[in-house]
Amino acid sequence: MRRRLSRPTLPANAGIQIEPKSVFATHSARCRVNINRPGWIWAPAFAGEVGYWGVGRLPSEPTRPPLRWTEVKPVSPEILALAGLWTLLLEAVIAGMLLLILVDRIAPPQDLPWKPFSLDQPIGLATASKLSRIASDPAACRAALREGGLTVVDQPEKDDGFCSTRDTVRASGKLSPAAPVMTCPMALRYALWERQVVAPAARERLGQPVVRIDHLGTYACRTIYGRPGERPSEHARANALDIAGVRLADGRRITVVRDFRRDTEEGRFMRGVRDGACRVFGVVLSPDYNAAHADHLHLDAGRWTRCG
Ligand SMILES: [Zn+2]
Repeated sequence: MRRRLSRPTLPANAGIQIEPKSVFATHSARCRVNINRPGWIWAPAFAGEVGYWGVGRLPSEPTRPPLRWTEVKPVSPEILALAGLWTLLLEAVIAGMLLLILVDRIAPPQDLPWKPFSLDQPIGLATASKLSRIASDPAACRAALREGGLTVVDQPEKDDGFCSTRDTVRASGKLSPAAPVMTCPMALRYALWERQVVAPAARERLGQPVVRIDHLGTYACRTIYGRPGERPSEHARANALDIAGVRLADGRRITVVRDFRRDTEEGRFMRGVRDGACRVFGVVLSPDYNAAHADHLHLDAGRWTRCG
C-alpha cells in the first residue's frame, strides 16, 4: 500500500508541505497531499492536519464528506518537529516488532530465551540463560528432565553443616554407577551434556553410540582438594560430577587418563566433550587444568566459571 510521494501542485492555502523523511514519515505528507482520497490514508502522524490528528484511519466516505484543502491548516515548526519525532518512534517500534516476529519464526528455539528449554534442543545462544533460570526453580528442573524422557526420583534433604544437600534427585541416564545423587540443576546439565555433546561427538568422531559414561562420584563431604581451610567443594553439595571415561556400543572404552592427551580420534573426542562441557557447566576441569584432574573431568553447576 505504500505509495511514493510525488510532489503535488498544492493550493496556496494548503499550508506547509512536509517532506518525507522515512517510510512512515511519508504518512504525514500523504495526509496533506492526498487528502481528497480517503480510504488509504491511515496516518498515525498528526503533522499534516492539525484539524484531524490522531491515530487511526482518517475520515472516509460515506460517513463524512472527503476533506478539502481548505480544511488543512498550516502547522507550526514545533508541531512538525514533534510529528517527525513521533513518526520516527513509531517506525522504530514497528520495525522492532517486525524484526522480533521474524526472529521468532526463523531462529531455532535454543537461541531464543523466551522459548521453553528442552533436552532435545542442541546447545544454543540462550541455553546458558535458560539453564540458570531453571536452576532456581526445582519444579521446572524436574519437569525438564521428565519431558526429556528421564525418570527422576526426589532425594531427601540432608543436613550436615557445609555438606548439606538440597534439591537433589536420582535421574536415569547412561552414568555408571547408575543414577547417582545430584542436585537437580546438575542432573539437568549432565543430561544435556550427555545428549547434546557426548552422544553426537561419539557418533560423528567414532561412529558409535555411547552405552555408558563412567564416573567417579558426585557427593563427597570435603573442601576443595580436601585441604583444610579451603572453601567447600561443589561435591560437598552433590553439585559436581567426575567423569572417568566413556564406553561405546562396540565395546571400546575411552578414558580421560589414557586418551585425553593422545593425538588420536579418541583423544580428540575426549577433548571435544570437555570443550562442549564448558558450554553447559559452570566449572570444567580436565588434565589440561592440573595433575589432580589427570584421570577425570570435573563438571559442576556451582556459581563459579572456569574452563580448563
Ligand atoms: Zn570433581
